[in-house]
Amino acid sequence: MPEVYNQFATIAQNLENHYKDMQDMEFTIENGKLYMLQTRNGKRTAAAALKIAVDLVDEGMITEDEAVLRVEPKQLDALLHPQFDAKALKAATPVGAGLAASPGAACGKVVFTAEDAKEWADKGEKVVLVRLETSPEDIEGMAAAQGILTVRGGMTSHAAVVARGMGTCCVSGCGEITMHAEDKYFELGGKQYHEGDYISLDGSTGKIYGEAVPTVEATISGDFDRFMKWADAARTLKVRTNADTPRDTAQAVKFGAEGIGLCRTEHMFFEGERIKAMREMIVAKDVETRKKALAKILPYQQGDFEEMYRVLEGRPMTVRFLDPPLHEFLPTKEEDIAEIAGELNITVDELKAVIASLHEFNPMMGHRGCRLAVTYPEIAEMQTTAVINAAIKVNKEHPEYKIVPEIMIPLVGEVKELKYVKDFVTATADKLIADAGVEMTYKVGTMIEIPRAALTADEVAKEAEFFSFGTNDLTQMTFGFSRDDAGKFLDAYYDAKIYESDPFAKLDQIGVGRLVKMAADLGRQTRPDIKLGICGEHGGDPSSVEFCHNIGLNYVSCSPFRVPIARLAAAQAAIKSK
Ligand code: PEP
Ligand code: MG
Repeated sequence: MPEVYNQFATIAQNLENHYKDMQDMEFTIENGKLYMLQTRNGKRTAAAALKIAVDLVDEGMITEDEAVLRVEPKQLDALLHPQFDAKALKAATPVGAGLAASPGAACGKVVFTAEDAKEWADKGEKVVLVRLETSPEDIEGMAAAQGILTVRGGMTSHAAVVARGMGTCCVSGCGEITMHAEDKYFELGGKQYHEGDYISLDGSTGKIYGEAVPTVEATISGDFDRFMKWADAARTLKVRTNADTPRDTAQAVKFGAEGIGLCRTEHMFFEGERIKAMREMIVAKDVETRKKALAKILPYQQGDFEEMYRVLEGRPMTVRFLDPPLHEFLPTKEEDIAEIAGELNITVDELKAVIASLHEFNPMMGHRGCRLAVTYPEIAEMQTTAVINAAIKVNKEHPEYKIVPEIMIPLVGEVKELKYVKDFVTATADKLIADAGVEMTYKVGTMIEIPRAALTADEVAKEAEFFSFGTNDLTQMTFGFSRDDAGKFLDAYYDAKIYESDPFAKLDQIGVGRLVKMAADLGRQTRPDIKLGICGEHGGDPSSVEFCHNIGLNYVSCSPFRVPIARLAAAQAAIKSK
């Protein structure tokens, strides 16, 4: 029916020209007559959305700004992470679900410890690490795994945050799992999964499959760069990354990060010899011994910062000083306690006494953040030395970088505590700079993550040269929800339609957002040129990025794999508000 075909082709072209988008059309032919039944914008995969947007620009149908609005920022995840083979996925049935904590798909054999994950991966096995929850000492195993599944923890739990940083798939907070880690199996949906059994995870939906579902690698096409350049041309909000290793930093720079908005230094204390020095510092009974232990950590930390500054090639880096409660650096298992006491030359009882003394009922609200620096200013002095010396050294190698170190004091709630810690920082930094005989400026700022800091931001800004909104803690403390435990009851809130979504993933603009806006306004009242950013997990969430644009923050900072998403979300916010 060549005539009908030609008629159809003309109509199809007309419709596409009219709607300026790819159409999904329904039609029928009866007795040689063509009837058009329906047309609508066609559904599309991420790769297709990108291709269609770019093609429509090339055909002169839409502008670059319009193209930028055509791709959902979250869709980019599918271009950056492995996905399940679509056919294989259709044949698979989920056996349970947890939180979609870090996107992508993973398939591998179950292991229960970080050590096993590393060992098996070194032998060429693909593994999925299954844990009750993860802690900083699991880092290497997490990096070796295809995916991470945890029983406990929300969207800002250790597993979720670290996995997103690595770009590794993670499903967290699957409370339906019964763990038998010592016997190396877990139960889910009435079945047992033993070490070595295959499971698969979808970190974009939270679904868990009790079988091997093959995955396909992510591929970025040439269109991606062109498209992202249009986004960059449209946006005014800068995009930085949360990174604390040279590897993550390099990844983020490749994805277009314009600097580091949050370098969480605690992650730098775990590897090899450093953790030993850290523990010596913690068990030290006096300042002198503590300083000796810190002196051992200094070269490692300085070396890390030097490497990061080199990878950044002049882009800025905000270094956050030690934040977690100290018990996180001490062992919990009986056999580890015995071994580590030996390494530290103290008795098991002495180490146990230290561990007991550090025990807190709610460590997230306990002795952490700047409270550590108030108690032990020598930690802040050591970290200042590491940052400033690293900057001086790399600036000498590359004068064109013109590094201006940014030092960030966490968990401030009162301007006087910021001033107290800042005085140690500036005294140390000024002396180092003078001794080195170099010209260098640096900034000292704070995180706004305690409601009191937000409420008194005009006061805090007298001492802080920049604010970075730590919306993970700010959400926790504004709602009074523990960021690690809220996952247990939030489902009931969604069912009851009290909350629509997880406030740890999508910024609560009405409550927490009001505090952020208020603090931004108050901060600018005191210091009109104050630099304002956000470094909580919300910095990579599109609707939260739009909010940050609308209240005039200078930048958002998010994990490396979310940098393109934030760039696109920032561009869309700018175009929409034009
Ligand atoms: C925050 O609280 O938002 C933050 C970025 O810090 P952390 O998650 O390390 O507490
Ligand atoms: Mg915090």
